[in-house]
Amino acid sequence: MKNTSLFTLLTAAIFAASSMLSYADEKVNFAIAIHGGAGAISQKKMTPAIREKYENKLAEAVNKGYALLEKGASSEQAIIAAIKVMEDSPLFNAGRGAVYTYDEEHELDASIMNGKTLNAGAVSGVKTVKSPITLAQSVMNNSVHVMLSGKGAETFARQENLALVDNQYFNTERRYKSLQKAKEKLQKQLRELKDYQAAHQKLDVEYKVGTVGAVALDKQGNLAAGTSTGGMTAKRFGRIGDSPIIGAGTYANNNSCAVSATGHGEYFIRYHVAADICARMQYQNISVQEAADTVINKVLLEAGGTGGVVVIDKQGNITMPFNTEGMYRASRSSTGQSTIAIFKNE
Ligand code: ASP
Repeated sequence: MKNTSLFTLLTAAIFAASSMLSYADEKVNFAIAIHGGAGAISQKKMTPAIREKYENKLAEAVNKGYALLEKGASSEQAIIAAIKVMEDSPLFNAGRGAVYTYDEEHELDASIMNGKTLNAGAVSGVKTVKSPITLAQSVMNNSVHVMLSGKGAETFARQENLALVDNQYFNTERRYKSLQKAKEKLQKQLRELKDYQAAHQKLDVEYKVGTVGAVALDKQGNLAAGTSTGGMTAKRFGRIGDSPIIGAGTYANNNSCAVSATGHGEYFIRYHVAADICARMQYQNISVQEAADTVINKVLLEAGGTGGVVVIDKQGNITMPFNTEGMYRASRSSTGQSTIAIFKNE
């Protein structure tokens, strides 16, 4: 009897120890991936000094988001923090480094989606909001709407006590030069083709891409995605791209994945890129890598659409495919995986 109870006690102790061990082994997975735009990033022009600047900013953004996730913050908080770092930097086409419109102003777009609630917020064509992603978050959490545009969105930003700036705050010399070049090329094409839309189609890809975005999975298992952009250089007529369009430039659903896109917006809208990746995962039961790769390197490429995405699934698997020369990107996961890269095969 004595022996039997000793045996039972021992078995229970071994069982308890082994289950504690497996609990400790079972790491809660959390991760974040960000991008700073895809496009014709010239390897030749990329000096070590320029590269270092981009890498440092990407590291700052991804680490800021990761640190929040590590402390238990939500994926929504993490992506906002990461995107704000890039919006505040003149290096990227969002916030301070936003490209110029044809009329030499800046019109900014942004969106965010929460994968748990499927709530979403977006703003388009705002000119005086310092952080468009923060305004998109306010639209999502503090309004009954999904998308606000132009002056109305700015009035709402004022009501929300968000930081407002003069449109010139977004000026940078580099982007101004780029606008002048784009305009020269447009005029030349216009003389030959006599059609503005056709001339615009001929504009090099470098004028049509560049954006920032982030996706994350938090310790609670919730996904979120966000994107912020200045849009396309020399855009006119109140043109809006994919970045503020839920399902095109941004999508998040705990049942599948979270996506932030960058690229030639017109294609991303028509091919519903972000939502298509998540739908393929969910309905075809395929991996996040396969779904994203098919959409970017097959569907979009065949259609003539250039760009890329950062995607994370509910297990924390990350993929960052693009069909351009490069895409500024970084990721960090609680499994120890981390990346900072610009070109292919990095
Ligand atoms: N997708 C953005 C737009 O079309 C630009 C970009 O991501 O590069 O407005």
